[in-house]
Amino acid sequence: MSDLLQITDLNVEYPLGDGRRVHAVTDVTLSIKSGETLGLVGESGSGKSSLARALLQLPPPQRGSVLFDGQDLTKLRGQALRAIRPRLQMIFQDPIASLNPRRKVSEIVSEPLVVTGVGDPAERTKRVRAVLEAVGLDPDSVWNRRPHEFSGGQCQRIAIARALVLEPVMIVCDEPVSALDVSIRAQILNLLEDMKARFGLTLLFIAHDLAVVKSVSDRVAVMYLGKLCEVSESNALFAKPAHPYTAALLAAIPEPDPDVPLGDTKMKPGDPPSPLAPPSGCRFRTRCPHAVERCASEVPALRAIAPGRAVACHFPLT
Ligand code: ADP
Ligand code: MG
Repeated sequence: MSDLLQITDLNVEYPLGDGRRVHAVTDVTLSIKSGETLGLVGESGSGKSSLARALLQLPPPQRGSVLFDGQDLTKLRGQALRAIRPRLQMIFQDPIASLNPRRKVSEIVSEPLVVTGVGDPAERTKRVRAVLEAVGLDPDSVWNRRPHEFSGGQCQRIAIARALVLEPVMIVCDEPVSALDVSIRAQILNLLEDMKARFGLTLLFIAHDLAVVKSVSDRVAVMYLGKLCEVSESNALFAKPAHPYTAALLAAIPEPDPDVPLGDTKMKPGDPPSPLAPPSGCRFRTRCPHAVERCASEVPALRAIAPGRAVACHFPLT
């Protein structure tokens, strides 16, 4: 499989106006193959949404390149960027807030077609009906209703329909189930899996919880305070975490596999450091149970430790 998306040295910073900057994403290099699902995990504030928005140039990153199907999106502006958008879609955490409350479902889902000038009204109606059916909604009964008449799970179905209607090749899913009731989560995860298989999609699937990405991801990337800690084929990562932070996240899953050797996985107590002034060397060192002097003086590069596995740690666990 070839790379559909290749992110290189991506940096997202937010200047605060007083000379300080939030280092939200720092030197992230990551690729996603055509047809795969890459899970991206990290605790709240680690930079996942900043990374996701930077991919879509909403807004463009401060530094780095984003090759999508061979084209560097960071170099595109205006019409050239709009021409790519239909192929790269995004769905968000809060499905109700992401839908315009004044519009009917039929208008919400057909809007991307209208904006990009696809088809005539009859053709658009046909496509909207087909995509609503694909996400498990009955077109006749939802057509004239508005978002507030639906549950969170149904709103996420509408948001997924809206993302699918332009027939994208890739969807960035930013915590698509985090705001939903636990009982609804599996339904939406299954729907995304079905849509992926049916339409041959590539997914970047973001979550703050490793347990959620486990069932859907081919590979998993773990992010801490704006940097990647570990990128690995999913089964290997869950069987043997290589980065101490991955091990700590795994140990936090309510029922960890008793056969997985996690060693000393306790993070040091205290809040994560501020992204305004990240720690020197390894950013995780202030909470890492294994940190030594070298971890403060030398930034660990993300390096391959086995086929399909990379870790940014001077002393990986495996
Ligand atoms: P995540 O999605 O992993 O929770 P975010 O990408 O939303 O993380 O945020 C990463 C860091 O950037 C956080 O410290 C957050 O407070 C900060 N941040 C996000 N958006 C902005 C913004 N528009 N202005 C300033 N800081 C921001
Ligand atoms: Mg987020």
